[in-house]
Amino acid sequence: MVLRTAEDVYQAMTDPYYYFRDMPTEEVHERVAQRWDVSGRFPLPRFALCCPACGQLEVIYSQCYFHDRKDSPSKHRADVQCKCTICSHAFVFGVVIPGRMARAATKMQYNRREIRQILQKATDKKNQAVAASGLPVCAIRVCYP
Ligand SMILES: [Zn+2]
Repeated sequence: MVLRTAEDVYQAMTDPYYYFRDMPTEEVHERVAQRWDVSGRFPLPRFALCCPACGQLEVIYSQCYFHDRKDSPSKHRADVQCKCTICSHAFVFGVVIPGRMARAATKMQYNRREIRQILQKATDKKNQAVAASGLPVCAIRVCYP
């Protein structure tokens, strides 16, 4: 929806789907899962991170901040902060996450190194399970952060 006039803005505000927060929780999770992998400890994008300021793809996943929104039915959130290594623009994705991911967080904020370490452990565990199963070992890529 393109918002050009005050009437457009008003119209959009009366559309329940305009307000993501008012969507039924299942719909919110379904929508989020189309663009984010929320099966692990941190939300991981299913798309290439691209800098909104300069358009470059050299963007790092720099930290993840977990918090709850008490007044929302989709209350668990993770703010994924990214930073462009070309122009230094920093930006945030506010991702609705499942309760399982929120409960797995042992602290509110994780930096890039901590996230990488946790993801590496999970990847090593998966690789060991694949190796133990006797199936051909395929590389499990950890793209982010
Ligand atoms: Zn940039």
